[in-house]
Amino acid sequence: MADHPRFGPAGVPPSFRIVKAGLSDVPKLLQQEGLDAFEYEAVRWGRKPQIRREDAEQLGRAAKENDVWLSLHGSYFINFCGNKRIVEASKERLIACAVAAEWMKAHVVVFHPGFYGGNSAKQAFDKCLKALEETIETLHSLGIRNVKLGPETMGRRFQLGSLDEVMRLCEKIDQTQLVIDWSHLHARGQGQLRTVGDFRSIVERVEARLGREAVENMHCHFTKIEFNRNGEKRHHILEERRYGPEFEMLAKVVSEFKLKPVIISESPILDIDAMRMRDILQREWSRSEVNRANCDTFF
Ligand SMILES: [Zn+2]
Repeated sequence: MADHPRFGPAGVPPSFRIVKAGLSDVPKLLQQEGLDAFEYEAVRWGRKPQIRREDAEQLGRAAKENDVWLSLHGSYFINFCGNKRIVEASKERLIACAVAAEWMKAHVVVFHPGFYGGNSAKQAFDKCLKALEETIETLHSLGIRNVKLGPETMGRRFQLGSLDEVMRLCEKIDQTQLVIDWSHLHARGQGQLRTVGDFRSIVERVEARLGREAVENMHCHFTKIEFNRNGEKRHHILEERRYGPEFEMLAKVVSEFKLKPVIISESPILDIDAMRMRDILQREWSRSEVNRANCDTFF
């Protein structure tokens, strides 16, 4: 569980690549920017970890030294609602990600559960639940108990991953972590996050269903997003006025409920928008502290 709200990029920021930083330099560079989370991108991985164990362990040590919270975004090539062959391959891919996450001591492997395909929503959910249970069993047989699997809310209507479905998976299976991609919720719901109240009602739903600890420790993705009638189309930077959702609204609710989420920026300008969100939350948090005449702060 994160000890305070944390921010970081999804993947290595372009400016780090320009200075030819190695993977193990990333946590220090993030710390210099005042960021304290990093999501390692394993999104193109197949059945084997595509990082050497010693490199993963080195990243883990650097993250610890620089107080950077690590997560890993799992392979995009996962579909727990497909036929048997696809589900088996998907399980192997997710396990490879979890093995690497264990090497890094990353806290969570975020993943996209799958596509409804020809299934009814119920059939798709049941298949996904079964596959996820079996994956967790395999992780236990490998001695992996500290890495959580995080089904993510998905932005397209043909993907399994409504808020309700993701909460149900977390409710039914231990060693899972709720992952809320706010932009995906916004896109899937055709622009549903318009007011502070819209964000608040989601936080309240999560709390009512999964409890205080789950809501306090949400793992989040945030960017602005463009959508069409099928949902997600493209991510945009925070400054882009034409698109929502507005981070200021989430910041208000995080301060109001005193949450400590890990918030990962998936914006095209990864770390720059992570810093922007951190600053917005710090401002909002201090304002609500003053209102409450209470001086203890997470920052
Ligand atoms: Zn994702």
